[in-house]
This record gives sequence, structure tokens and C-alpha cells, in this order.
Amino acid sequence: MLNIRRLSANATGFRKELDQLLAWETVSNDAVNDIVKEVVLAVKSKGDAALLEYTARFDRLQLKSGSDLEIPTSELHAALERIPQDQREGLEISAERVRDYHQKQIQNSWSYTESDGTLLGQQVTPLDKVGLYVPGGKAAYPSSVIMNAIPAKVAGVKELIMVVPTPDGVVNDMVLAAAAICGVDRVFTLGGAQAVAALAYGTETVPQVDKIVGPGNIFVATAKRMVFGTVGIDMIAGPSEILVYCDGKTNPDWIAMDLFSQAEHDEDAQSILVTQDAAFADQVHESMSRLVKTLPREEIITKAITDRGAIIVVDDEEQAMEMINIIAPEHLELSVEDPQALLPKIRHAGAIFMGRYTAEALGDYCAGPNHVLPTSRTARFSSPLGVYDFQKRSSLIMCSADGASELGKIAAVLADGEGLQAHAASARYRIKKD
Ligand code: NAD
Repeated sequence: MLNIRRLSANATGFRKELDQLLAWETVSNDAVNDIVKEVVLAVKSKGDAALLEYTARFDRLQLKSGSDLEIPTSELHAALERIPQDQREGLEISAERVRDYHQKQIQNSWSYTESDGTLLGQQVTPLDKVGLYVPGGKAAYPSSVIMNAIPAKVAGVKELIMVVPTPDGVVNDMVLAAAAICGVDRVFTLGGAQAVAALAYGTETVPQVDKIVGPGNIFVATAKRMVFGTVGIDMIAGPSEILVYCDGKTNPDWIAMDLFSQAEHDEDAQSILVTQDAAFADQVHESMSRLVKTLPREEIITKAITDRGAIIVVDDEEQAMEMINIIAPEHLELSVEDPQALLPKIRHAGAIFMGRYTAEALGDYCAGPNHVLPTSRTARFSSPLGVYDFQKRSSLIMCSADGASELGKIAAVLADGEGLQAHAASARYRIKKD
């Protein structure tokens, strides 16, 4: 049988065990932190030379000069012509559906005018230049090109710079084709912490961006945390997670495969089943043990399930909801009869897949919502990647003479209270004298 942790929500010590299972430190340990720090500092100080060195070391790709890191735009269009028709159509349909969904997220500028003529509001503007991280270490992710680039385009970002590792120099045509479809401006064959550092600080070849978005492994997620402040980041979108809550009435093979669909990304991925039906938990475990052997990524799945997976048996639906809100999973499947009835009880989840037919995999590729989602319990305070990540807001204030006079009186009193005399005087100059 496949080795998976079996937990009972009522057992003594359960909460401690769960906290350990969920801890960020279980994946981003000191060794990861040390290497990421070394890489980020080296790229910051040595630029392209460090990128070439780390690309050779981590991606086994020897390049002669910084300019070799860039994949020419002509290559993107050539790849689009090369890929089979069904793949091209799949990418185009996915891009269209993702665009339609994200159009609904556009935030517009707004303002209102008070009775004395003072105008207040917010101006919404797109970011100038963003870095899109597209993972590529253990698998190629054309879908991540679409999920990163389309919301940026919808927001009106001027320049899209994409990075994607090409281990052993193997370039994935679908990834390049997706970049062509989405209108990415420049693509660099770079991955991991070195790619994040290059985008954050800029090098002789790679331009510095204003914000870095996109998912990646623990090296990518740790690097994004490290450079935050120099550039913006979207969120911590690290190794994938899925929590399936099932009432015990879905085909156990379906649930087993849904759990694997995230485990196959990475040994650090996390798949958790929550159910109140202990016999069903056994059935899913049996399905997992049988089905894992049929998958080419058996090794990655087995490690992820053994090290970070769990089956949690709860008393009832109420306790299951509690569990979901503690775990705050990236992907949540509600494999039950009436998922909508549960929605008001769920406060923390990156994306919620409702009903027995809604496999999480559909959301990964083509349903429309974004697949770049908060991991490591950050769904408590983060949201899916969206158009809003590529827009920022400036406050607008335009006082009429009357408005300045009235507000000036209040501001002057408050400024006096804070002991800030220039503030007070600046406000008082504008108070009407009559
Ligand atoms: P990746 O591009 O994230 O990472 C590959 C890079 O990691 C390499 O280029 C290398 O530079 C670096 N690296 C690998 N081993 C290293 C080491 N020992 N030391 C230093 N650097 C090292 O690709 P991946 O590894 O396939 O991972 C993709 C990740 O993205 C998975 O964890 C997957 O679960 C996750 N993902 C998350 C989401 C989300 O929204 N949260 C979506 C899709 C994928």
C-alpha cells in the first residue's frame, strides 16, 4: 500500500501534527534559504556572469554570453507554426476563456464631487513592466504562460518579460507558442532563484521589472520572498496543494487521481483528503495504491504523498469546514452533493472546485479562472493572480476654494495637535479670511 499519513481530527496531539505538516519550514529549510541567498546576492553583484554560472549548474545548460539567454521573438512565432493543430487550438481556446474571465476583474478609476466642489477619487493605472515566472524544472507549463500573461495584458501592462528554465537546453514548443499567442514581449531561458534575482535587480541582458508574478518551486518562492520590496510580488505561489473534502459518495478512483494531479507536480506538493467516512478513506487509499503504479510520475507522487500527504478523518461536515479554514488550501475540491450550501462556511481557499464533476485539473488549463494561487496557508490573506495584481491605484484630491477653507480648519487643528507647524500653516494659508 502507498504510504500516507492517516490522522483523526479528534486524536490527542492532532493539532501539533497538523501544524508540522503544514509548516513552510518543512519545505523551505535552512539549506534552501542559504542557497537562495547566495544566488540572489551573486546575481545582484555579478549580473549575467552569475546567471550563466547558475544556469550551467542547475539547468545543465552551458551558454557563452548573456545574449544567449534570450530566446528571440521570431522563435516564439516559429514554435506557434510548428506545434500540432490541436495543441494550437487548445492554447487559443484556453487563452480566450482566461481572457473572458479576467475582463470581469478590471478595476476602473472613480471619483465623486462633494457639495462644495471638492473632487475625491482613485486613478487606476497598469504597471509599466512585469516579470512572468513560468516554471519548467520538472514539467513544462504552457498553461502558466497563459495564466500569467493574459491578466497582465488585460490590465494594459506595457512590457511583459518572461523567464522559463530550459533544463539541458530542451525548449518546449508549446511554452514558446503560448508566449506568442499571449503577446509576451521578451523571453529568457532562466529559472529558479537566479531568474527571480535577474528580474528584481536587472543585469546587462535582463531588464529590471516592477513586479514579479507566477508560480514555481520552493527555490522560486523563497527567492520571491527575499526580493520583495525591491520589486513587488504577487504572492507565495509555491509547491502545489490540494485538499479534497468528500462525503464518501464519489468514485474513490476519481478522488485518488485528483489528489495525484497536484502531487505529480513536485515532491514538495501537498495532497490532503478530508472525509467523515472512514471506510471511504480506506477505499481511496486502496485506489491510490493501485493507480500510482500506472503513472509515469510514480516516483514524485510517492514521495509527495508519503512526506506531505494526509488522510484526515473528521466527525462531521462541521469539523471538515473547520479543517479547511485551518489548512487554507491552494485548491479545494468540495466533492459533495450540494457544494454551494457549504460556501458560506469557507473562509480560506485559493480556488474552490464545486461538485463531483469539477476536477481541479479543469481549472489548471481552461475553465477560465487563474491557476496561479496562494500556497502555504497564505490563502488566509492572498487571492488568485488577477488583473488587480497588474493595476495600481493613486488617490485623487482636488479641493475647491471653499473645500480647502473648510478642510484647512480641521487639518490645522490636527496638525497643531501633532506639533507639525508647517502642516498647520500650509492648511491655514488656504482658510478664507472673511
Ligand atoms: P521551477 O521552474 O519552479 O524550478 C526549476 C528551477 O529550480 C531550476 O531552473 C533551478 O534553477 C532551480 N533549482 C532546482 N533544484 C535546485 C537546487 N537544488 N538548488 C538551487 N536551485 C534549484 O520548476 P519545477 O521544479 O518543475 O517546479 C514547478 C513548481 O511550480 C512546482 O512546485 C509546482 O507545484 C508549482 N506550481 C505552483 C502553482 C501555484 O499556483 N501555486 C501552479 C503551477 C505550478
